[in-house]
Amino acid sequence: MNKRIKTMEHQWLELMEARGALSAEDQRKLEALEIGFAGECAFDDWMDRYGEEQWRVYRDIWIDAGGPTQLDTMVVTESTVFIFDVKNYSGDYTYMNGRWSVNGRPIIKDVFVQLKRSLEKVHLMLRQIDPVIQAEGSLVFINEHFSFRTEGELGAQVVMRHGLKKYLQTMDESGVTMRMPIDMLCSRIESFFIDNPYPPPACDDDTYFSLKKGVCCCSCGGFRHAVMRYYLKCLECGNQEAKERAVLRSICEYGVLRNDRNLKVRDIYFYLNKMISERHIQSILSKYFSAVARGRYASYENPGRLMKNLFPEITCKFKNEG
Ligand SMILES: [Zn+2]
Repeated sequence: MNKRIKTMEHQWLELMEARGALSAEDQRKLEALEIGFAGECAFDDWMDRYGEEQWRVYRDIWIDAGGPTQLDTMVVTESTVFIFDVKNYSGDYTYMNGRWSVNGRPIIKDVFVQLKRSLEKVHLMLRQIDPVIQAEGSLVFINEHFSFRTEGELGAQVVMRHGLKKYLQTMDESGVTMRMPIDMLCSRIESFFIDNPYPPPACDDDTYFSLKKGVCCCSCGGFRHAVMRYYLKCLECGNQEAKERAVLRSICEYGVLRNDRNLKVRDIYFYLNKMISERHIQSILSKYFSAVARGRYASYENPGRLMKNLFPEITCKFKNEG
């Protein structure tokens, strides 16, 4: 079971916000992503609590079956493949004659259509694996402040928050067992997995130059630090962070913000507001990243991932090394 992590776009927008360079449009986008992500994590908790041990749960995956599609959650059980699309909407929603509205105002996005498209791709995938295997899609409204009125046929199975526990406890009770062992089925399914085919946003030069530079405190988000030999001390909140960790964390953040280029000592030197020596930056780069070019124009591969995802073993705790 993979733990859910924020999408690259979400991470990028958060870093842009921390460095004071988010446009109003991106600010709205970030808020929507935060609400959506919180809903998905809440759903994950329910799934961990009430799902069966032997189920395989995949989170935030992309598959390619007659075109790419993203799936919030896919659960493979002994009998069925379940797809969940989690919505953290709040407010009074209605769905009448195929049209959605919220608090009386019409909305264009039809979440049933999105789920139906994803489910079609999953069916295409399963047809190539074993046509007997069934797939089911559900739309989960996870927010307790969500109400829903509807008339007529719904475009998909809908699970409300108050019905979620029961749904998870009973969804796999069909008693049918697949012909294929679950391990084999899962490895066949995994062969359809792809990376997100859409590149994450990156900064253009103008936006990049407008970013706040320096180490962003991992505790309060401030930028003023005293740089000691072995640690950095935040002058806003007093937090101390091992120097190696602070520099590595910042390089990784730079890597997400500028995911369209390699890592170079000089670029990172300026990104850190010249607070850290080029020699120290060089030593961290060569310790943690693979060299693409050496010498005067040395550059390193940019994984474009945050430190906590790339080096999860590096903990938050500051060890007093000095
Ligand atoms: Zn601080």
